Amino acid sequence: MERFKPDARGYYGAYGGAFIPEMLLPNVAELQANYLSIINTESFREAFHKLLRDYVGRPTPLFYSDNLSKRYHTQVLLKREDLCHTGAHKINNTIGQLLIAKHLNKQRIIAETGAGQHGVATATACALMGMECTVFMGSVDMQRQAHNVERMRMLGAQVIPAESGSKTLKDATNEAIREWIRHPKDTHYVIGSVVGPHPYPDMVALFQSVISEEIGKQVQEQFGKAHPDVVIACVGGGSNAIGAFYHFIDNEHTRLIAVEAGGMGLESGKTAASIALGRKGIIHGSKTYLMQTDDGQIVEPHSISAGLDYPGIGPAHAYLRDTNKIEVVSITDEAALKAGLMLTRTDGIIPALESAHTIAYLEHLQAGPDDVVVVNLSGRGDKDLITYQNYFNHEQ
Ligand SMILES: *Cc1c(COP(=O)(O)O)cnc(C)c1O
Repeated sequence: MERFKPDARGYYGAYGGAFIPEMLLPNVAELQANYLSIINTESFREAFHKLLRDYVGRPTPLFYSDNLSKRYHTQVLLKREDLCHTGAHKINNTIGQLLIAKHLNKQRIIAETGAGQHGVATATACALMGMECTVFMGSVDMQRQAHNVERMRMLGAQVIPAESGSKTLKDATNEAIREWIRHPKDTHYVIGSVVGPHPYPDMVALFQSVISEEIGKQVQEQFGKAHPDVVIACVGGGSNAIGAFYHFIDNEHTRLIAVEAGGMGLESGKTAASIALGRKGIIHGSKTYLMQTDDGQIVEPHSISAGLDYPGIGPAHAYLRDTNKIEVVSITDEAALKAGLMLTRTDGIIPALESAHTIAYLEHLQAGPDDVVVVNLSGRGDKDLITYQNYFNHEQ
């Protein structure tokens, strides 16, 4: 079976492509021309999988939750990406991209970050591979994720605040792109999700597809089933979701459910449900769904979780939505916070607020008692303790 991929110009149907300033053309063209041939070499595959195994800790477990299964009358399995080194799936991608940067002789690494997880994963891999690292982060996010800022600095990265717009992920991405334009030759820009110009969405999806590869094997081993019945994942830019869906995209027996950040609710004007509310436009180098006003201004997103606080969505997800291969739902801030506390108390796992959105959806899921439902637990919640505490202290 042919793998899920964009066409030669980086399009998934009408979405994707590479809309970039002229200054970046040589850099992006170099990446486009080389990423697949590098990834397909034996030496790359060996180095990548060895690091995923011995450094990241893969395969991550697929944990059968007795408590959630009883509560929701179906078979609930948690794919434990929270157990990856640095606490989220992001490191699967940063390791892959740094190996590519080395092949292309780029010694300087830049990245953007929202929750700080991608920044930490990039700073970590840079420390390991001896590369110079600069991370751009919205100043609002630097406050809500102060702990991750300290981690990045300790790892030797420079963290530069983005002060424009809502001072969150979108603004950090703008700053990173500007920096790349200033230093196109010696610098590789490690994008943290399946967004950006071609080939990033495809390259990042390939690195994250290890998640669904493992899920397939684990469901077979644990249940003797060829595939799960349902896979649920949260979507910010869409990288953990595409990774968890990847090998099941053409399997019509597996329901793929993408959970967006509803924020204060879809009608509230304070939301990050970019597939539900977005319209076609161009953001950060690719054509996709994004939240915009009638005259094309980007609408500032809102989500309690910094990692989902993004007005766009990876182009593959826009295409999968249009072709009805994924179901798109949304969960509010409040429901996510409550589900995060619930999972902590039922299973002893404090989930990232992003991942808590997927747990919250279980209450709405219609599934049979024998259905195998895999929830991709994209990350751990240590970074979100203050947000959890603030919410529950106000509640009491
Ligand atoms: C970054 C992040 C996300 C959102 O990014 P995707 O590219 O949509 O996966 C979700 N969960 C966690 C824990 C994250 O760190």
